Amino acid sequence: MNEKIIIKSEKLCKSFSNGGIQQHVLKNLDMQIYEGDFTVIMGPSGAGKSTLLYALSGMDRPTLGTIEFSGERISEKNQDQLALFRRKHCGFVFQQIYLVDGMSIMDNILAAGLLVNKNKQQVLKQAKEMLKSVGLNEQIWHKFPTQLSGGEAQRAALIRAMINQPDIVFADEPTGQLNSQSSDMVLNTLTQMNEAGQTIVMVTHDLKSARRANRILYLQDGLIQGEYHLGKYQGSDEKRHEKLAAFLLEMG
Ligand code: ADP
Ligand code: MG
Repeated sequence: MNEKIIIKSEKLCKSFSNGGIQQHVLKNLDMQIYEGDFTVIMGPSGAGKSTLLYALSGMDRPTLGTIEFSGERISEKNQDQLALFRRKHCGFVFQQIYLVDGMSIMDNILAAGLLVNKNKQQVLKQAKEMLKSVGLNEQIWHKFPTQLSGGEAQRAALIRAMINQPDIVFADEPTGQLNSQSSDMVLNTLTQMNEAGQTIVMVTHDLKSARRANRILYLQDGLIQGEYHLGKYQGSDEKRHEKLAAFLLEMG
């Protein structure tokens, strides 16, 4: 496993006030994310997986505690500073595929790329290369998101998330809305990106998705209750599936 820490949380707390009642979702949570890893966060529904992902990525501020991202204390940044930070360092994909419906696939990706790199020719060249590398060829570039299958659209969303070469891609249940075949295509893309060096943090409750990771964290009762290390994914493998299932059984 890679030993270089890219994100580190210390005593991370996140609470919400729901109808006047304080709900403590994350409770003094210490954790690290390592560069080059494909980390998965699992845990029961409502455990706070999304909340944790949003805190680690600077989408939301912690109630208490610190988060260091590449040595920078992002927990002390205000919302505007965080927005800039995210644009530069993070890529996001969600269960809901957030592509702009009124724009072609290529325009969606260019719009994201041009936020950071003003050289349109450069961004265009890179977008084409990246789309091709995940099997999205020319015939789909000028289509609109609703004309694509879920798997194609989510892969396009991944390219958009990666067009600015983020330090980390955060994925919150990225296959949650997809059928099995589309899920596999998206998971293959994520695996391929990780093989090329992209650090990934993904929330999932699905074992088939989780086994793509080399490090699995289990969140429950506001803390990381367990951690499991698998080698890097190298194709479908019964043993890998069994090991992970045994870990989850132990946790759940
Ligand atoms: P998970 O992703 O593990 O299913 P979440 O992180 O979405 O869980 O939510 C954890 C808990 O925090 C839930 O009980 C949810 O109601 C609460 N929560 C999450 N976001 C908010 C919010 N913005 N306002 C109030 N409560 C929230
Ligand atoms: Mg969630």
